[in-house]
Amino acid sequence: TCGICVEKCPFDAIEIINLPKELQDDPAHRYGENAFSLYGLPAPQDGQVTGILGPNGIGKTTAVRILAGELEPNLGRHEESPGWDEVLEAYRGTELQDYIADVRDGEVTVARKPQYVDQIPNSFDGNTRELLERTNERDALEDLVERLEIGPVMDQSIDDLSGGELQRVALAATLARDTDFYFLDEITPYLDMSQRVTAARLIRDLAEEENKSMLVVEHDLAILDLLADTLHVAYGEPGAYGVITAPKSVRNGINEYLAGYLDNENMRIRPNPIEFEEHAPRTESRGDTLVEYPDLTKSYGDGEFTLEVEGGEIRENEVLGIVGPNGIGKSTFAKLLTGNLESDAGDTDLDLDISYKPQYVTIDQPMRVDAFLSSITDQFGSSYWNTEIAQPLQLERIMEQNLSDLSGGERQRVAIAACLSDSADLYLLDEPSAHLDVEQRVQATSAIRRYAEQQDATVMVIDHDIYTIDLLADRLMVFDGEPAVAGRAGQPQPMRDGMNEFLANLDVTFRRDERTSRPRINKPDSQLDRQQKSEGEYYYAP
Ligand code: ADP
Ligand code: ADP
Repeated sequence: TCGICVEKCPFDAIEIINLPKELQDDPAHRYGENAFSLYGLPAPQDGQVTGILGPNGIGKTTAVRILAGELEPNLGRHEESPGWDEVLEAYRGTELQDYIADVRDGEVTVARKPQYVDQIPNSFDGNTRELLERTNERDALEDLVERLEIGPVMDQSIDDLSGGELQRVALAATLARDTDFYFLDEITPYLDMSQRVTAARLIRDLAEEENKSMLVVEHDLAILDLLADTLHVAYGEPGAYGVITAPKSVRNGINEYLAGYLDNENMRIRPNPIEFEEHAPRTESRGDTLVEYPDLTKSYGDGEFTLEVEGGEIRENEVLGIVGPNGIGKSTFAKLLTGNLESDAGDTDLDLDISYKPQYVTIDQPMRVDAFLSSITDQFGSSYWNTEIAQPLQLERIMEQNLSDLSGGERQRVAIAACLSDSADLYLLDEPSAHLDVEQRVQATSAIRRYAEQQDATVMVIDHDIYTIDLLADRLMVFDGEPAVAGRAGQPQPMRDGMNEFLANLDVTFRRDERTSRPRINKPDSQLDRQQKSEGEYYYAP
């Protein structure tokens, strides 16, 4: 080994080209003998949005606690802490010098949005209005409530909010504060595409108009791209050490991260690149009809929300993508199919065995992961199951943990595994990308896709991450209408038609990055944006 890693080479015996420069220096912080060490720190800049891109467990929270003045960095000398003066000395001449001086003098104030918004109800008792009034320091609440469309849930108890509502309330509560430095740990989970774009614009506006510094961790690359001015890549071995690079341009940072090779550092961070395969839109599904469903309608209450679904068919062995805004009836449609809900008109007695992963994963029985998964499938532990499910979903390391101790991303991976491991006619996954980092997203996506191909399984996936959908789906079902009022869904259609309809509703076009082929959002009204709109090619531009 190279002497850095505590247990094993994180690169799986890949030859390490050289020791990264950062690791030759002292760390910014080490928690103790043989404990996690953090090398490098992000550098917040007034008036700028700084992004961090990297896996979970790599020290991002540690870095933010240092920048918030909560944790005094020990420069690796965990036995005798050097104190802020010496820390400042160590950062003299770097981008962080002024910032650290302010932290030392107690002059930095920080507002933070936690990663797992699902946990907010555990620590707050009250309604949305009460929560937001507590943080209303900038007199910006009205604007935030309007732009984030929080109005309808202002008097609702925090306990009753959906994940997407909680995410927007948490964002508003954080951005409403008047501090120098804002840290946002993932903004996109549970938000639909247009809410993601709105959140990104709000964060940019706060940086530009109020000269604030924003630090954002985000795994939706299209949104990170739109949001950040500069980017730090984070890499290392989760639990052992983490390195935060010097700032890079957003495009280079994302591309180098995907390539698995950092140019300036001359450093390989992953054996293989993450391939953003550019493929022609899939045009047809292979299978025969699995099920035909008739025109369906469903209303709640006194018609507060009405869903109309045009009858269609789901084919055997296809992956059917489902897209559309939040609150438009996607889950309702899923529940009609699973028989958990009766339709008002149209027979949904489909006689199908469906394995369903809901959007909000709440498995927290006092049970170990391995016991839970082996109770679902007798394939558990077989070499097939290990190769196709456990490995791509990175379950080996968490098999012995209790379900209740899992992080959001770990819980998501267990839930995907549980859904796919069940035997069923139809697998229905609601937002499998939530809380997964970029690498996990790509691996989970290909695990689902391979599973469909090899098991001749039929899969439906609801997701807001456009690339997840493009990689996964053979056909697309588009939901549209007025959220929380009326939803409509057309028949499943070929990918090109479906993407065009979906993105035309959003008025957003994508191009491909020249180097990595990853999809990037075009600037509104740029030449490409206008050209693609006039050609009606919103996603698969030639
Ligand atoms: P991230 O925010 O990237 O998920 P964290 O900064 O929370 O990562 O944690 C990085 C590593 O440091 C983890 O392995 C965590 O267990 C460890 N760690 C965090 N806080 C402490 C602490 N107070 N003492 C020892 N280890 C810690
Ligand atoms: P999506 O999955 O597209 O986010 P849903 O199908 O969950 O949308 O919800 C569509 C609309 O129906 C939302 O306005 C939601 O608040 C409302 N709704 C969902 N379930 C119920 C219910 N059991 N009773 C009343 N209204 C509901």
